[in-house]
Amino acid sequence: MRMFAYSTPKGEPRIGLVYEKLKYDFTRIWSIFKELKSSPRTPDLYFIQIMIEMENFSRQAIDEVVEEVKQVRGLDDLLIRGEINFDVPIQRPSKILCLGRNYAEHAKEFQSSVPDQPMFFAKLPSALLPHEGNICIPGGIGRVDHEIELAIVIGRTCKEIAIDEAMDVVAGYTIANDVSARALQKEAKEKGQPWTLSKGIDTFLPIGPFLVPADAVADAHSLTMELTVNDELRQKSSTAQMVFKIPEIISFISHYVTLQPGDIICTGTPEGVGPIVPGDLIQAKIEGLGVLRNYVIAG
Ligand code: MG
Repeated sequence: MRMFAYSTPKGEPRIGLVYEKLKYDFTRIWSIFKELKSSPRTPDLYFIQIMIEMENFSRQAIDEVVEEVKQVRGLDDLLIRGEINFDVPIQRPSKILCLGRNYAEHAKEFQSSVPDQPMFFAKLPSALLPHEGNICIPGGIGRVDHEIELAIVIGRTCKEIAIDEAMDVVAGYTIANDVSARALQKEAKEKGQPWTLSKGIDTFLPIGPFLVPADAVADAHSLTMELTVNDELRQKSSTAQMVFKIPEIISFISHYVTLQPGDIICTGTPEGVGPIVPGDLIQAKIEGLGVLRNYVIAG
């Protein structure tokens, strides 16, 4: 099962659902379900709000909602017709955290070793870019690289979560490209400065196209991942190669940072990172999560 965020032709934000190979307006399905339950209406139906309202966001819970609405009044008029303008699956996350050097072969590419505990940095929400959007490279910043990553979306508020309970707070998974201004990052490292600029530039975090509920992914630690630039294969690996696994990452971060519904954690990139330039087409594919496609333009 896959979900996604999109805009109607009038520009209204919506959540969509791929159900039995067809695309449906889940925002309306959810509103109808709530009416059936006599629950109060809420004006804001971004994904985070739905996650909070559902309490146990999961494939199973979504299936139950869809089945009930289908039985009571059918789904035919809730089909999405025509082209879809994808939005980023999670709008307005409270934070985006990214693992650095979480694949040993990638650490080697830059003559680095893997850290002895998860190393994370923040990426700015204003960097988010949807599927099919343009990565816009400002002039004069030197080399910019692609980095395919499995992204975790957090489903509920948690702090100091134990390793063996950490998978319970994962709402779902999506694909991220941690676009990095490598020349600026190298300069920052040499000067002992933070990475906020090199990682935080607008459009430098393509994400999507889908949010796949956690219980629809059999094993998030055995997904093949591939990134191509203009059909040339650049990165090919598996999430099995992560140094710190998802429960360790979440547990470690939550020891220091309160995680909230919709927070995004990018789990690091494998080897094969390389430069992108205006005119390139980037396609990032993770098994079961779809293909995230973006273009590169000059800013
Ligand atoms: Mg990265």
